[in-house]
Amino acid sequence: MATSSRVLASLRRVSVPRQASPLLQRFQPAIRVRWAGTTSATSEPHQPNENGTVSSSPAPAKAIKLTSETYPELQRNSKFAKLSQDHVKYFQELLGSESAVVDGLSKDASEDIEPFNSDWMRKYRGQTKLVLKPQSTQEVSSILEYCNKNRLAVVPQGGNTGLVGGSVPVFDEIVINLQKMNKIRAFDEVSGILVADAGVILEVADNFLAEKNHIFPLDLGAKGSCQIGGNVSTNAGGLRLLRYGSLHGNVLGIEAVLPDGTIMNDLSTLRKNNTGYDLKQLFIGGEGTIGIITAISIICPQRSEAINVAYFGLESYEQVQKAFSEAKTQLSEILSAFELMDGRSQKIVNTVTGKRFPLEGEYPFYCLIETSGSNTDHDSEKLQNFLESVMESSIVSDGVLAQDQTQIQDLWAYREGISECLGHWGGVYKYDLSLPISDLYELVNDVRDRLIEAGVVGDDDSFPAVDVVGYGHMGDANLHLNVAVRRYDKKVEKLLEPFVYEWVQRKNGSISAEHGLGIAKKAYIGYSRDETMIRLMKQIKNLYDPNGIMNPYKYI
Ligand SMILES: Cc1cc2nc3c(=O)[nH]c(=O)nc-3n(C[C@H](O)[C@H](O)[C@H](O)COP(=O)(O)OP(=O)(O)OC[C@H]3O[C@@H](n4cnc5c(N)ncnc54)[C@H](O)[C@@H]3O)c2cc1C
Repeated sequence: MATSSRVLASLRRVSVPRQASPLLQRFQPAIRVRWAGTTSATSEPHQPNENGTVSSSPAPAKAIKLTSETYPELQRNSKFAKLSQDHVKYFQELLGSESAVVDGLSKDASEDIEPFNSDWMRKYRGQTKLVLKPQSTQEVSSILEYCNKNRLAVVPQGGNTGLVGGSVPVFDEIVINLQKMNKIRAFDEVSGILVADAGVILEVADNFLAEKNHIFPLDLGAKGSCQIGGNVSTNAGGLRLLRYGSLHGNVLGIEAVLPDGTIMNDLSTLRKNNTGYDLKQLFIGGEGTIGIITAISIICPQRSEAINVAYFGLESYEQVQKAFSEAKTQLSEILSAFELMDGRSQKIVNTVTGKRFPLEGEYPFYCLIETSGSNTDHDSEKLQNFLESVMESSIVSDGVLAQDQTQIQDLWAYREGISECLGHWGGVYKYDLSLPISDLYELVNDVRDRLIEAGVVGDDDSFPAVDVVGYGHMGDANLHLNVAVRRYDKKVEKLLEPFVYEWVQRKNGSISAEHGLGIAKKAYIGYSRDETMIRLMKQIKNLYDPNGIMNPYKYI
């Protein structure tokens, strides 16, 4: 692998002076590369210790505050039974293998059980004493049937990378982790339809598809850990949505187990099937509240022959909008990603990773554009014309174009690394919002002004907040507003909420664009959905899960 300095020395520069030059540098035809994935985030952000300060390594799971302490208003629902030795014995006999049951009731298994109790952000921590890892749909069915009869509450868990605390228990709910259901069941090379167990890791699915010259229609920074069942359960958006659309369109079928153990076999591989209500849609984004997804079928696009990635610096958010408009107009069908990063987010990646910065100068905004198509010459010409036009018209101030796969990954790392790097100082207040594109970045400015005015943002440890940054999937009008903090702080929280939610509501936006509700956003659903909608959702929940055993205390 090339060192970063060598990489950057060879990145093709596409800069022009701030005043557009008539002698614009011409681009060479883009080289032909095969997509081999981007980076994957695997380590966890550093978190504050019990005193609220941060050590140099991630805090042990036990230092994370229990969710029940963070939300003292939540009480364990007494209708749920307490786990007994008899229950554990039943599951041990059912699942057979020792590794399929992590038993923290009969013995001290805290070391083994903690990773299932705490989330990726190390912000939520439950108190389960039992983790079950079924290997088949039938085992999931038997588990749920038993839990339903015995009123044992459960939490379905995939890769545990969710960002709203949905994948870990609040109290002593049993964790049902899908990691052992990890088989690719079928792939049709003509139609591109993949059928796979829910516990297949996203990156594994994508690598499998790469060998068949296809791609999974979803990509995100946690791809090395998250599972495709978790992706569907959260209706994850990610980096390819602009091009391939949402999972609501791409998922063709779902096999799920309902809370009473009924197996719902809707694992259709048909693209068209207008025979009644499309029930699988309820499971897409259902966050484990009405059943457990055990398998999916999904339509996967052909892998593109030519991938190009460019990274730009821009002087204002106005210019960003213009660049996006131009990209849609000029690149149209080959545009596969348009990501926005503000200067502060990129500075943080630079500071934390030490990776050499892609551009020489500093800009308030950066964009990453990816194109993918089937005709290298055609794509290169289009991209070249686009780059020339946005630079000649001074929309873009400086930019580089990746020359090979390593450089593509290096540029993507500056976008995908943000989430992880923000955790470096301690905690992060994360807001994942849908907003009209014209207003998208104004919120970041308003929040930053508000926190600075209140005196909570600064360079040294006396200030709880480090910085306020904005980045996201510009192509989907999806902003990630993040406040990096040294410690979680009530004053900062009061400044942020309900301010952010009210702001979003005024713009008719969504308080959760792609991360879902979990426990973190449950209380705020009313900012994005009216009473009728919430009532209908509650009816669906009660219909599917009358005993309320599925992922309680969350969602609605
Ligand atoms: C670095 C990083 C980058 C990310 N980038 C994005 C992004 O770009 N876009 C995006 O949308 N998200 C993103 N996320 C959030 C997260 O990765 C996604 O929500 C992902 O889809 C969760 O998958 P998982 O397998 O980890 O699910 P988990 O975290 O284990 O679970 C998430 C929810 O789904 C439920 N669940 C899990 N599996 C099942 C199942 N088989 N059946 C029923 N319910 C189930 C859980 O109960 C929980 O409510 C990112 C996270 C990280 C850490």
